[in-house]
Amino acid sequence: MYQSILNEIYDSVQPLIGQGPVASYIPRLASVPADKFGMAVQTVEGSLYQIGDAEEAFSIQSISKIFVFALALKHAEDEIWRRVGREPSGRPFNSLVQLEYENGVPRNPFINSGAFVVTDIVMSFTRDAKRRLLELVRMLADNREIQYDYEVARSEAAHGHRNAALANFLKSYSNLRCEVESVLDTYFTHCSLAMSCVDLARASLFLANGGCVPWHDGAIIRPEQAKGVNALLMTCGTYDEAGDFAYRVGLPGKSGVGGGIVAIVPGHASVVVWSPGLTPGGNSLAGIRALELFTALTGLSLF
Ligand code: GLN
Repeated sequence: MYQSILNEIYDSVQPLIGQGPVASYIPRLASVPADKFGMAVQTVEGSLYQIGDAEEAFSIQSISKIFVFALALKHAEDEIWRRVGREPSGRPFNSLVQLEYENGVPRNPFINSGAFVVTDIVMSFTRDAKRRLLELVRMLADNREIQYDYEVARSEAAHGHRNAALANFLKSYSNLRCEVESVLDTYFTHCSLAMSCVDLARASLFLANGGCVPWHDGAIIRPEQAKGVNALLMTCGTYDEAGDFAYRVGLPGKSGVGGGIVAIVPGHASVVVWSPGLTPGGNSLAGIRALELFTALTGLSLF
């Protein structure tokens, strides 16, 4: 069933592929061809379906926030909720204003300021947070070839003035323990992970499956934590377009400015789409439409 639905989606979204600008504030991402489109579905029963450029690696950017957050949840959940909120921000992912009037406490873990605090927490319990994340996604995706793209990380670091401002702001409120430079360096590196739709579908399956993946003994996170992550993805995963995404797709989802979106059908499957052209909110334009069609055609939305 899924393969014919993916075929149908692929045909329907053709006119949208290439629409919307590719992220260019990270110069290295500006050269990614806009006409790419891939999609993959991984079911909890173990079947994988794919179409288009689903095996081509792309820059996952903010989708990495899911995996960093899972690491922090497993080891330091109480610490997270002392330092980060759980409410949608209604602001762009790199907005500064809210952070000042809310005294340096980010609204949620999926905007950049929240991710910096979560990264800082992970750095406090592991000596090498970059290696730790790489090991986690390689294990989750069952692919030892996954790598950071250090060119992308360097490109972002050279132009990451807003993120530097946010991180310094957090530090001024004593909501970062590590040095600003090392938190930013770790965060940019995490964002530079290069993964395909197939990799990401496998790597995010634990969120559809109560915190576990079939090919690994032991839970990544507990079932009630997986529920919490999905709830936060639903309300916060696509920033100031989270309401529109919930309305149209009806699933928890996390986007990145590389044009990827991970969506979770709890109990059933993870669904990943990639197309680099973006909406004004920094979410994949064709990707959102593809996911909207996916839930319309399968009936697999939460509502
Ligand atoms: N690395 C990007 C940034 O911090 C990630 C943003 C995103 O994917 N929404 O700006």
